[in-house]
Amino acid sequence: MEKEDYEVFGVSMANIRNKNEKKVIEFMKKLIPQFPEFDYCTICLQDVYALSLNQLTARYTQSGTIVLKKDLADDDFRDVVESAIETVTKNVKHPD
Ligand SMILES: [Zn+2]
Repeated sequence: MEKEDYEVFGVSMANIRNKNEKKVIEFMKKLIPQFPEFDYCTICLQDVYALSLNQLTARYTQSGTIVLKKDLADDDFRDVVESAIETVTKNVKHPD
């Protein structure tokens, strides 16, 4: 995506997005091996990734204030990625 696509009224949202994406990937690598039932297919991996990012957006909203400058804690990422993995392994969207 072009850099300016991440700008809102001249403020770039790219940093926060990049930071979240990197953290989600980091925790996916750490946590997925703890789920023996995970199948490591493209669809499931992308589902975990997309679901985690959606959940993180919800967390920012939940806290009620503009917290774009505040970093989420590692525990937040761990929670979110872990629950995304659980959701995806329990609701596999494709035939075997
Ligand atoms: Zn799968």
